[in-house]
Amino acid sequence: MKAEKNMDSVLEEIRRKTQRQSPQEILRTSLEQFGSRIALATSFGAEDQVLTDMLCRLQKLPAVFTLDTGRLPQETYEVWEETETHYGIRIEGLFPDFQQVEAMTAEHGINLFYRSVELRTLCCRIRKIEPLKRKLSSLDAWICGLRRGQSQTRSAVDIVQQDEQFGLVKICPLADWTCEQVWDYIRTNRVPYNKLHDRGYPSIGCACCTRAVSPGQDERSGRWWWEKPEQKECGLHWNQRSCLRR
Ligand code: SF4
Repeated sequence: MKAEKNMDSVLEEIRRKTQRQSPQEILRTSLEQFGSRIALATSFGAEDQVLTDMLCRLQKLPAVFTLDTGRLPQETYEVWEETETHYGIRIEGLFPDFQQVEAMTAEHGINLFYRSVELRTLCCRIRKIEPLKRKLSSLDAWICGLRRGQSQTRSAVDIVQQDEQFGLVKICPLADWTCEQVWDYIRTNRVPYNKLHDRGYPSIGCACCTRAVSPGQDERSGRWWWEKPEQKECGLHWNQRSCLRR
């Protein structure tokens, strides 16, 4: 989206059109509005799987991409492949720049993220933010599975918002949904999901930075568990809480 003025008018238009729409209607409206310049970012979490299912019912080959940090759990690669097979689609994998990864690990070690927030965010920047930035520069809008109920850092998520960090429109069709709605949809529609959800992982990121949580704990408390709650974002969604299978 080139001009700021254009961004404002597009935001206003898409907000007006999506008012009181269901997530499926919001997706349809967004596809009509942005055409080939919109894509779903998936990490194969429960919400992302719901959105992938909804999109595949609207389009034969929807644009879906994921960030392969090189540190993902095996279960994530399994659901990635299962999702492609189930829907007959290919999900674009975005990889970090190998020279940046090599320089980072040479200077700070392979498990730098446990030592400070600064080193953790450096790793997230190189393995996630930079590849995402490259991808988003080719889009006018992106779709994400954020929900307000996921954490303290996501309590203000809007369905349609301006992504000031990356300079495009961000659409979060499930912003209003509860964890129960997400899992009802998955069960009813037999949507493939990451099997770590059955083992106490409500929110799943890199293997080394994610652990299982106890029932009743904040949904994202297993992510970067050694940090304070207000610091728990990797930088993909700074302006603004996945959920345990029930
Ligand atoms: S979640 Fe952990 S391993 Fe993954 S990019 Fe961030 S710091 Fe690095």
